[in-house]
Amino acid sequence: MTTALPSHTTEEVRALLEPPGSSLLHELGHGLGGPYHVLFPRRFDANAAAFRAAFASAGVDGRVYYAKKANKASVFVERAAVAGLGVDVASHGELREALAAGVRGTDLVITGPAKDDHLLRVSVLHGALIAVDALDELDRVLALARELGRTAQVLLRLLPPGQPHSRFGLDDTETATALGRCRSEHVDMAGFSFHLSGYDIQERADLAARSVRLCAHARTLGLRADRVSVGGGFAVDYVGADDWRRFHESTRPEHFHRHKTFSGYYPYHSPVAGADALAALLASTPADETSSLADLVRQAGVTLLVEPGRALLDQCGLTLARVLDVRRAGADSGDLLVRLGMNAGDVSLEEHGVLVDPVLVPRPGAHADADEGPVGVYLAGNLCLEADLITRRKVHLPRPPSVGDLLAFANTAGYAMDFHAHRAQRQPLARTVAVTRERDSWRWRLDEEYWPITEAGGPVS
Ligand SMILES: *Cc1c(COP(=O)(O)O)cnc(C)c1O
Repeated sequence: MTTALPSHTTEEVRALLEPPGSSLLHELGHGLGGPYHVLFPRRFDANAAAFRAAFASAGVDGRVYYAKKANKASVFVERAAVAGLGVDVASHGELREALAAGVRGTDLVITGPAKDDHLLRVSVLHGALIAVDALDELDRVLALARELGRTAQVLLRLLPPGQPHSRFGLDDTETATALGRCRSEHVDMAGFSFHLSGYDIQERADLAARSVRLCAHARTLGLRADRVSVGGGFAVDYVGADDWRRFHESTRPEHFHRHKTFSGYYPYHSPVAGADALAALLASTPADETSSLADLVRQAGVTLLVEPGRALLDQCGLTLARVLDVRRAGADSGDLLVRLGMNAGDVSLEEHGVLVDPVLVPRPGAHADADEGPVGVYLAGNLCLEADLITRRKVHLPRPPSVGDLLAFANTAGYAMDFHAHRAQRQPLARTVAVTRERDSWRWRLDEEYWPITEAGGPVS
């Protein structure tokens, strides 16, 4: 057997996973014919409102930019546009989608690591905030703005001192050079930005304070410098503390396919997550300072920007696949190998991913066999590759699944849904459906091309 690692869910998610809601899931599985994703746009609104509330209760002038790269669906960008959130785009394709969904150019921040001239030109024309990553990129922005007779809105992205080998951002010497070059009529130097990998709050507070001090320095050079973007990286709490502890205590090599364990795990449990992580960041005291980050930002007259992707998508989506067959994992094994109508591109994990247990959604009319108890199950995908396992970890199910049941992977909207989607072997690409609950029923719509907003929605406050 293996240790249970159930995902947190919301009331809305549970209502859909259990009868009578689950009949819609089977209907969609039948109608769409392959793996599919379900999105919960109202949860996105609530997450965004919580981030804004964290700024408001700390008395900080802040702006939330949804990091679009975390999910390809249009519905979240539409919700961002309606709510008046900004959007962080990483490519020309994402910029195009954001504009089409109604996000204004001045509400965009452009953060991609490889910005071509086309992306930069459109960004300058729209007055979007460009997070400049390297000196030669700044030179291209300047040249384009001059050519267009415009002023480019620029943030200088800093190389994190604690992550000196990051490929992204300017070191101290480059920053000094960049500040000199920003003293041009074609650049409006709005401030500084950074994005840290990992979820450490203190490290973010330290670099935010450093950015605030740099703003003061930049102002002595006559630059505007009144904005600091602390990027994304607000944690998501996927599983409960006790389950996570038990998982660490009891996990053994036999719980992994061919005993291939991991040297470390993605932090599926985070005691401080989402908007609470922003509140904690604002309340923390940065190194070399005596007041909280909130106080520092307020005193400096700086607007703080955040670019959450994963955290805004917390509990905003499920991924479903049908059980195609069930067999023994080996001649002398009590474990099962379950083949799913999906592959690891449809529900992708971190490199060191473990994957929480999916939820079994029995086919309609199925009767559970009373003497069938919990099982450990390996999940295999639909590709002719030994490596096409949905996860190397043996997952825990309350009873053996049957052909035609659905397995639902909870909380996949942030990165796990379509970041690595592909069409290898011409297997069907997972379709995407946005759902909203109306009293006793659910409304759904495909989210594939640009679809207009059909549900009247007001700004989240
Ligand atoms: C990916 C990315 C984000 C979003 O990060 P999350 O961990 O999803 O919050 C924000 N800003 C930049 C620059 C990024 O590259």
